[in-house]
Amino acid sequence: MTGLPKSPVFAALERAARERILILDGAMGTQIQGLGLGEDDYTGHGSGHVCRHHSDHPQQGNNDLLILTQPEAIEQIHYNYAKAGADIVETNTFSATTIAQADYGLQQAVYDLNVEGARVVRRALDRATAEDGRPRFVAGAIGPTNRTASISPDVNDPGYRAVTFDDLRKAYLQQATGLIEGGADILLIETIFDTLNAKAAIFACIQAMKAHGRELPLMISGTITDASGRTLSGQTPTAFWHSVRHAKPFTIGLNCALGASAMRPHLAELSGVSETLICAYPNAGLPNAFGQYDEGPNDTAVQVEEFAREGLVNVVGGCCGTTPDHIRAIADAVAKYSPRKVPEYA
Ligand SMILES: [Zn+2]
Repeated sequence: MTGLPKSPVFAALERAARERILILDGAMGTQIQGLGLGEDDYTGHGSGHVCRHHSDHPQQGNNDLLILTQPEAIEQIHYNYAKAGADIVETNTFSATTIAQADYGLQQAVYDLNVEGARVVRRALDRATAEDGRPRFVAGAIGPTNRTASISPDVNDPGYRAVTFDDLRKAYLQQATGLIEGGADILLIETIFDTLNAKAAIFACIQAMKAHGRELPLMISGTITDASGRTLSGQTPTAFWHSVRHAKPFTIGLNCALGASAMRPHLAELSGVSETLICAYPNAGLPNAFGQYDEGPNDTAVQVEEFAREGLVNVVGGCCGTTPDHIRAIADAVAKYSPRKVPEYA
């Protein structure tokens, strides 16, 4: 993809993926909610570490900020996922871009969030590996931001855009640079509802890799948001693949929005057309009326096992509502299946 030498981790990851289905971690949100943190915990003024970046905005709900203010708690969540069986653990940096942090007035914190976000996962994984000898990989999580480059948020002005490609590219470049500097092994562009945003992220990731001098594995994960099987920007899984395959991603896949069963046909479509590894991390079913996820670990695992039995997947994990127990159950359920064979096209 980049013409650069591949990072040392690349070969290890490719080798592991040929041998078995790899396990990705589960949701951060549910685990953070379980900590019951208030405003003072988020800013670090009550418990934790005071953030050196000032903001006048309330910070409760700014989960990424906890990397700086509650690093011990975040490290423990990553560690719990590693011990539950995750080979790949994501940084808590879904919203660590200047665009997403503008809601909290913390644009100036994004570099620290990404560097420290990768470091805290590395520490957690090194602890787990010291105990059991299993290698594990840090995936730098890059979210979609809260703006969309290809759709107008104003129904009366369809030509309007709240963000440009270049705004996104710059924000993502800063994020990817920080993640690589902090030691991320993989860059994971996830929850893609707008392919144009993802293209800006891909472009930025390649720029960051060029500056770093090494190609890192890139994981790309879209989100099907409605029953017709399209992303918010209107693409089918096949169209989505053809829009991003130039990046030669290590994995292409789907996450979030739907539970595993509803994701299955879209995953099958993607698996049929993509000449790279397939990654799936569904939600724990659909949220109830209170926005909570009721699906238990075994319920999710039975459905994800179906992906493995049908030979659709190479990497599996969980998105919203999943817990370390879900990941443990998923890892157990898929262990006996071979990973999907990547089709070779002329
Ligand atoms: Zn999700």
